[in-house]
This record gives sequence, structure tokens and C-alpha cells, in this order.
Amino acid sequence: MKENNNYHMDVEAFRKYGKQVIDWLADYYDNIEKYPVLSQVVPGEIRNSLPDHPPAEGESFDDILKDVSDIILNGITHWQSPNFYAYFPANTSGPSILGELLSAGFGVQGMLWSTSPACTELETHVMDWLAEALQLPEKFYSNSTGGGVIEDSASSAALCALLAARERVTNTRSADFHKKMEKCTVYISSQTHSSLKKACIIAGISDDNIRYISVDKNYSMNSEELSSKIGQDRHDGFIPMFVCATVGTTSSLAVDPVLEIGDICCAEKIWLHIDAAMAGTAAVCPEYRYLLDGIELADSFSFNPHKWMFTNFDCNCFYAADKNELIKALTVNPEYLKNKYSDASEVIDYRDWQVSLGRRFRSLKLWFVIRYYGLKGIRHHIRKHIEITQQLTALIKKNTDFQVLSPVSLNLICFRHRKSNDFNKKLLDELNKSGKIFMSHTVLDGKYYIRLCVGQTNTEMSHVANAWNLIEETAESLES
Ligand SMILES: *Cc1c(COP(=O)(O)O)cnc(C)c1O
Repeated sequence: MKENNNYHMDVEAFRKYGKQVIDWLADYYDNIEKYPVLSQVVPGEIRNSLPDHPPAEGESFDDILKDVSDIILNGITHWQSPNFYAYFPANTSGPSILGELLSAGFGVQGMLWSTSPACTELETHVMDWLAEALQLPEKFYSNSTGGGVIEDSASSAALCALLAARERVTNTRSADFHKKMEKCTVYISSQTHSSLKKACIIAGISDDNIRYISVDKNYSMNSEELSSKIGQDRHDGFIPMFVCATVGTTSSLAVDPVLEIGDICCAEKIWLHIDAAMAGTAAVCPEYRYLLDGIELADSFSFNPHKWMFTNFDCNCFYAADKNELIKALTVNPEYLKNKYSDASEVIDYRDWQVSLGRRFRSLKLWFVIRYYGLKGIRHHIRKHIEITQQLTALIKKNTDFQVLSPVSLNLICFRHRKSNDFNKKLLDELNKSGKIFMSHTVLDGKYYIRLCVGQTNTEMSHVANAWNLIEETAESLES
């Protein structure tokens, strides 16, 4: 039964249940290694456990929280388990969760500076902090031509970059826009993230105008081929518009030759976007800053603190070298949003830097993380993850039944048993079914690889050593 009959949760009840939820989460983290990492439910199982109809009468908070434990938890894949190695991580941390909670508590919608000045100004400030931490060129700072914004995802950042590039060469509002669009070409590699292809669909770039540049033996974009394809396209009357270089591809963390690609793009005045969704975080460590060499030649850049910087999803940091190009592509200015600060161009209105109008107060959690860990703490954990990955690589290499895809870059290992693709598939399936670890796979040059990424906040060498023992044992039992 509810405490009151006006339906709301009053402040005293909020205080009580709020503490309960934090306690629930603390217990969850205490016990997280006891749950199967990959949820073991079958399709429909969660829905079948829920009532068919919404409750007519409000229910007690205790009952709601109990169903989280009894029903929802079964259908959770535990991304925050230290035994989670699949895909790329979506890690989080105490300070991030608490920052997110405050953001929900304020419940502000930061579409304009004036709809919550702190939401905009903290975001600008944190983005400048990160520009400094990553040693980004001057042009990406807010007091320069460009600036940074927090987007929901690397996919959105890539889309916004593509729309700005499109604006640069077509002028969307002009009469010959469609005629020009037919000629605009985009350059990506076979290893570029699928979100770039989706961005092309949304931006109206046909498949015929996407050029897939081949990759070298390390899966990095072949810049000579890029150059010759651009030359050919110019010759054929196309308008080369946009190149995406990846720093840390999703399949194998391959790094495209950004310096060479950047030189080509600068000479040709083509928009260069750098997608460093996962690997960008490593550049906070001076010894990995080389990953971003050539970024001074880029028009835009993004990375995901929601992957490897202990900040919960969603949080993508997107920088443009010329904010006016971005804003020109994405601004609309209806009467009902007009206000004296925007009209006087005194402030940043981040709604003009993204697709949607409304925006969450995402900088709060990032600010909490950066302040709580300090750059020193963030570097410590990034280095530790990379060190663990190297130790695991050495372990795998000792077992001649297995092959490691080299070079192993940062915190991702792609490896396979020497047997067939089918054997590797079965091995991965078996391991994930065990609930003890969760990994994913990729296919490179027709070979099936198991991908193991070390990036969950609490992963230690002991977890990874256990994982490797399990992998070896499981492979042996499958062989016999
Ligand atoms: C994960 C990833 C993306 C997509 O990230 P979202 O934030 O989920 O959109 C894009 N590019 C690369 C290289 C990635 O690894």
C-alpha cells in the first residue's frame, strides 16, 4: 500500500527509497560476479513475467523494486561485470552513476543556454578540459574557431560531421542542392564503423557514391588508394565531400594513417572526420597521444567516454574545428525559442550542434568522473587495462593451439584456435553459455576471431587469467 493518497511520491518517501535504490545498487556491485555475465533468458521470457495490463492503482515502491530483483535482473547482461569482454565496453563508475542521478534529479532540458545556463557552460568547460587532456589543437577549443559538444553517440557525431560536410559543398537551402548531392562522394574503408554507412543513408548519399578504400595487412586504410580514388572522382565530375579516418576500428582497433589522409583532405578541401570512439580515451596518456597525430588536419573528431572513460552511456565527445560550419548545417530558429541571449549571439545554444532539439545534462557525470579520478586516476586505469592485455597476449601466445592477430593494439585481443571457423564459433558459444565470461567475435579475411576487450572499470589481471584458464579448458574439452 502507498503512504499517501495524492499519488505522488512525497519528498520523505523519495528520501527513503532513494537510499534503498543506492543500497540496492551497492549490493548489486558487491555481487555482480555471481550473475551469469551474458543473460541466459530466452526471447519473450521477460515479457511473459510481466502483467498483461498496466496497474490501475499505484503500487508500492517495495513491490516495484522487488520485481527489479526478481524479473529484470534475469534479463540483464552484466556490462559492468569485470568478466565482460565483449564488443567494446560501456563502462561506468561510482562518480558517473551519481552524476547521472543528479542530472535526472535536476531534470533540466538544456536545448538553449537560457533553458539552464549551467548545463551549457559546464559542458563547454568540460569539453575544453578534455581538449587539454588530449592535447587537441587550438582550433578545437571553445574560445577558438571550433569547440566541443557532448552528443549521445559516436554515430550521431559522425552524422553531424557528415551533414556539416554536406552543407559545405552543397548549401542545402539552394535550388541546385539535389543536383549537387548526386555528385557528392564519401570515402571510408572496409573497416569503418557501420554508423558511417547509416549516416550516409540519413544524409541522402546513395550507395553508389560511397567509396570503400581497401586496407593494408594491419587493416588500416590505404591512403594511396584514397588519393587515387579522389583524383578519379574529380576527373569524372564528382564532388569528393567527406572522409572518415578511424583511430581504433571496431573489429581490431586498427588505426588509419591520419597524417597521410589529413594531407590529402587538406589539399583537396575535403571534410576529414576522425572516429576514435574507443581508442580516443587512450590519448589522455602522453605515451598514447601519438594515436591522434594528424588531428590538426581534421575538421572534426569524436570519442566515447561511454566506452573506456568510466562514464556511463550515453556520452560522446564531439569536436568541430569550425563551429560555424556545424551550426550552419543544423540551425533552425523558430519563434518560440527566441530569447535575448541567443538573439545577441552571446551564448552557445547546443541544440544547433546536434540532430535533436532537446538535450540531457550529460556533462555532469563526465565532470564528476574527471574530478573524482583526476587525469592521474584515469591514466592509471587505462594503463592498467593495456598492461593486462599485454600479459594476456603473452599467455595466449604460449599455447600453440591458438593464434593471436597481431599487432595487438591497446586493450583488444583478437585470437582464434587453429582449428576451423566452426570450432571457434562453438568455442565462443560454449564460453558465453557458461555465464562466467562474455566475449564477442569478428571475421577478418574470412577467419573467425574471438574478440576479448579489457575495458570494464573493475577488470583486474586475476579476472583475465581466470578467463584464459576457462578458454583453454573449454577448448580442450571440445577437442576431445
Ligand atoms: C563503438 C563505435 C562506434 C559507435 O559508437 P556509438 O556511440 O554506439 O554510436 C563508432 N565507431 C567506432 C570505431 C566504434 O568502435
